[in-house]
Amino acid sequence: MSNDYKPLSPETLGQRLGGLDVMKQAVGGNADAWTVREVGDGNLNLVFIVEGDAGSVIVKQALPYVRLVGDSWPLPLKRAFFEYHALIRQEARDPGSVPQVLHFDESQALIVMERLQPHIILRQQTMEGRKVAGLGQTLGLFAARTAFRGSDLSMTAGDKKADAALFAGNVELCDITESLVFTDPYYDAEMNRHTTPQLDGIVADLRRDEALKVEVQHMKRAFTSRGETMCHGDLHAGSIMVTGEQSRIIDPEFAFYGPFGFDIGMLIGNYLMAYHAMPAHISDADACRDFQDWILSVIDETWSVFREEFLRLWRTERTGILYPKALYEDQGHHFASESAAEQLLGEIFRDLVGFAGIEMHRRILGLAHVAELDTIEDEDLKARCEAKCLKLGQFLVINRNRLTGMDAVLAAARRAE
Ligand code: ADP
Ligand code: MG
Ligand code: MG
Ligand code: MG
Repeated sequence: MSNDYKPLSPETLGQRLGGLDVMKQAVGGNADAWTVREVGDGNLNLVFIVEGDAGSVIVKQALPYVRLVGDSWPLPLKRAFFEYHALIRQEARDPGSVPQVLHFDESQALIVMERLQPHIILRQQTMEGRKVAGLGQTLGLFAARTAFRGSDLSMTAGDKKADAALFAGNVELCDITESLVFTDPYYDAEMNRHTTPQLDGIVADLRRDEALKVEVQHMKRAFTSRGETMCHGDLHAGSIMVTGEQSRIIDPEFAFYGPFGFDIGMLIGNYLMAYHAMPAHISDADACRDFQDWILSVIDETWSVFREEFLRLWRTERTGILYPKALYEDQGHHFASESAAEQLLGEIFRDLVGFAGIEMHRRILGLAHVAELDTIEDEDLKARCEAKCLKLGQFLVINRNRLTGMDAVLAAARRAE
């Protein structure tokens, strides 16, 4: 078989991967007996569930273009390489948080990985009004551990620089974020779409807001230049798979070296959109209020767990070149060390608030929307939910350096009623 890239199909997958030992073990020896379904619901790639006598796996393969748009928008296959490298690092930094990688084929841009089962996508779960026990805990730990352990706070200088160089190659996926997240929503870009005419007025207001546009470009500069840690890069509610009790993280193909607060900021932006979309998904007012309170408690927990875990790692795993213990603890200067950590966490907080606000804008004004809002059939109701998100996003970006803590963010979300 040639090594030239060829997209898989349900018909060819068995024949093409049937010879792999890992597939024989995980799925079963007789590839003819496998059931193969393409289940990709994302914007970019092919995803197959392969089932056999011995079990099932996921096969994810990159396409040479953006699935959502088609072959008019080429996108390099090497994103599978970055996804693979991110997955194995995330597994090392926060064991059990991501699907186990079973096989990687660079020339075919494909990853065979553990199938999460019976997990479903978090968005789906929340739209059905179902809670997830421990969600804030799992995501707070994941965000803190990957942030800390992928940075100069933890790694040797050589390892960190090698990783920063490796992920610096993820140019095209970063370009998607640079354009679709940080630029297009704030002017009349070609690929934008929004609920019209209901939102036209507020969209025009946003695009006239000069202070907002300046602040967003400050955040974009942080995204492009502040290579503090390996970020997941696409940590939204479609990149989390859950049961009622467990949460796992998938799809890190956008991985890059960026600001500590990027992933947790995107995530919180997604939670806030779900918060404002819920009235369209739960008709009973009390039940809806209860679920919305739960979403805000998840935000609160995610951030407080992040803080606690980051501080714990600061005290116990600070082996990198930054804030060396030789300057602090070894001199008995514990207060200075704790104070430096608090200052850094303050900076992370101000960044995450900005990223959360921008994420809310781009999911309502840009190319890629979120199902929580996009599936609302009543256009007026949908626009009312979206308008709350747009205004909250604007408030967060503009006031990110003035908000005193997560309580202030949650209060702003409640006020946007
Ligand atoms: P894309 O990069 O195209 O967004 P994803 O990695 O998000 O692709 O996968 C698309 C869908 O495939 C997910 O929404 C999920 O339903 C399913 N999926 C992906 N990985 C797994 C997995 N490890 N276990 C179970 N389902 C998965
Ligand atoms: Mg995805
Ligand atoms: Mg998806
Ligand atoms: Mg993806």
